[in-house]
Amino acid sequence: MSASDAVLAIDIGGTKLAAGLVDPSGAIVRSARRPTPAGEDERIWSAVGELIDEVVADVDPVGIGVGCGGPLRLDLGEVSPLNIPSWRGFPVVARLAHRFPDLPVRLHNDAAAMAVGEHWLGAGRAASSLLGVVVSTGVGAGLVVDGRTVNGPTGNAAHLGHVVVDPHGPACECGGRGCLEAVARGPAVVAAALAGGWRPASDVIDGRALVRDAEAGDPAAVGALHRAGEALGVALASASHLLELDRAVIGGGLAVGAGELLLGATRVAYARHACLDFAAGCEIVPAQLGSDAGLIGAAALVIEPRYLARAGGHS
Ligand SMILES: [Zn+2]
Repeated sequence: MSASDAVLAIDIGGTKLAAGLVDPSGAIVRSARRPTPAGEDERIWSAVGELIDEVVADVDPVGIGVGCGGPLRLDLGEVSPLNIPSWRGFPVVARLAHRFPDLPVRLHNDAAAMAVGEHWLGAGRAASSLLGVVVSTGVGAGLVVDGRTVNGPTGNAAHLGHVVVDPHGPACECGGRGCLEAVARGPAVVAAALAGGWRPASDVIDGRALVRDAEAGDPAAVGALHRAGEALGVALASASHLLELDRAVIGGGLAVGAGELLLGATRVAYARHACLDFAAGCEIVPAQLGSDAGLIGAAALVIEPRYLARAGGHS
């Protein structure tokens, strides 16, 4: 292998896996992605390993940053992504350390990695209390306060997806009811639109088709995105009162695709519920780094270790 100053970044989600080499300026030098395979834990790990082989090739990275769907145990280096059912307590840090014994391995949840990436180089720059939210297959979030991630004892602070927005709402994968994720995750929004009378224009029924039909004026599609956006605004208002947020950066496939169809409703709901002056000033803005935020943020955990001042792997 040849020497390099690049970091190996890995982004593990319920829908897709990605790996990349990121240089110290945050530029992605090389990357590869693929859908997350269904099935048992080792099959998914093999897919991650193949992606690593593809991007590392002849390069010798200086460290490894990993973003993975939550929940997780930063203190143990283990992940249990709700959207990857076969990974429960999966020792992702130990597996990487075994393969790259001399390299630091830094882990955080994928939404925290997005928040760090946006704070470092995207829409969250200079924010002092930033919540990054990913609205996709699930709803995740990461919190950066005074330039550091807020982790909690096991690394699970800022799970905005499981803040309750409707105590009588739909059941959630977590076992609760009416969580933001149960209302606003892509599959839930699609299901709500269908129940509300959405007539998909294409055979493919997914979030992308929903956004397309909403843009074409289908009222049920518009209504479902509006309700998801509203639920996000309600959750952000609660978060802002708790944390005095000055910025919320919204990313993830569904939110990026829907744009103002979702974010417009988020801002209206936020304004209705965040009435105290200190909360009213929070800016709600779209993410700038797109689908690269996860890889850039994972790399930042190594390149800018101030973000993850304690726990989160070994070095
Ligand atoms: Zn939940």
